Amino acid sequence: MNSAKVVLSVLIFALPALSQTDSISKEANTVYPEAHSLYLDLHEHPELSSHESQTAAKLASKLRDLGYDVTEHVGGTGIVAILKNGNGPTIMLRTELDALPVEEKTGLPYASKVHTKDDAGLDVPVMHACGHDLHMASLVGTADIMAHTKDTWHGTLMLVGQPAEETISGAKAMIADGIFQRFPKPDAALALHVGNGLPAGELGITSGIYDTNADSLRITIYGKGGHGSAPHTAIDPIVIAARTILSLQTIPSREVKPGELAVITVGYIRAGTKNNIIPDHAEMGITVRTYKADVRKQVLAAITRIVKAEAEASAAPREPAIDHYEATDAVYNDPALFRRLQGVLDATVGKPNVIVEGPITASEDFQYFVEQGVPGFYFSLGGADPEKYAQAKASGINLPSNHSSLFAPDVEPSLRTGITAEVAVLRNLLQGSAEDLRKNLSQQSAGN
Ligand SMILES: [Zn+2]
Ligand SMILES: [Zn+2]
Repeated sequence: MNSAKVVLSVLIFALPALSQTDSISKEANTVYPEAHSLYLDLHEHPELSSHESQTAAKLASKLRDLGYDVTEHVGGTGIVAILKNGNGPTIMLRTELDALPVEEKTGLPYASKVHTKDDAGLDVPVMHACGHDLHMASLVGTADIMAHTKDTWHGTLMLVGQPAEETISGAKAMIADGIFQRFPKPDAALALHVGNGLPAGELGITSGIYDTNADSLRITIYGKGGHGSAPHTAIDPIVIAARTILSLQTIPSREVKPGELAVITVGYIRAGTKNNIIPDHAEMGITVRTYKADVRKQVLAAITRIVKAEAEASAAPREPAIDHYEATDAVYNDPALFRRLQGVLDATVGKPNVIVEGPITASEDFQYFVEQGVPGFYFSLGGADPEKYAQAKASGINLPSNHSSLFAPDVEPSLRTGITAEVAVLRNLLQGSAEDLRKNLSQQSAGN
């Protein structure tokens, strides 16, 4: 190939990419001021899981003003906003609505000062410490662009504001309330999450398993209470608990095949009231994280076996109670959807800014939508101030993670990138026919 041909082919390949990037970033500039002020408002007024009434009402009113057909109170405080634009696929974009009981310590001028009563009646601070405010602002900015550029796509755009992600109950509640019967069932579903794992301006994408299965267990070990000076008259549940905690760590290290992910964390242990009293029970709270269904099954069975055996070895008067009170499945990204959208995102924000990553160990309830037969694509949005990110990399000290009282995304570049990426992906999928898109994605495997 001669040099003229090289120049020509570079131009041919570069031009559409450049024009797409330029046009979407111009559009993002237009909607940015309003998206930013919505972000500040949401950040200053966070609401706890299942109590997102004001948040949902704000989103509903913005989306209605943009011409969306909005239904509120879907699965509690959830909202569904539909924009029909001729024949074509139905694509869902989801944001969470909820914040966390965390006291904000960022010192930002727009830091949350909100306190409220939690479900147990305790006074708690509230903060958007997971960045869901940024997801909402991004979704509304995207909604604005899509509503004003209906010549660039066709089909049905379905925007979902999901409550109670942090308690992993909101997606299930929306499904139980008939989200995919009362509204069109999407041909694909999208979501993103901001974090400090990447600098603002970058995106992280993953094919297949994106995050972990999460299981929450509450275990009560029963002993026999007595005087601290007379252990021979008692059965000490604290000693049983201590031995159990150490034995549980042999599950990842000795039972699970090396290379497979299994995390068992005892996050709390509660027992006793006074130094010279042997209590009659001890309670432990455990989180279990795995990627694969068979490993999950193996680990949960091993926990039950060890907890029971340790109690029996100590002659406990009763078998321990094991309460499996919360669980969610790993998010699975459709590989065909991943391949298609990788190219779109590369062309939109630049290939060096799209990082292909392995799965993370966090969890989320987006998979419940996917398990309804909707291929999903869930990706990471860089939120770290690029300078602070570089310093953190150099020093080896991690930036505050999501859920930290210091978590504060670098709003302007991450919000702009969020809007730009969402618009690019939606425009790409909202083309052709629903049948063709389905066929394109039908190679997906059944999940993990
Ligand atoms: Zn979170
Ligand atoms: Zn989150």
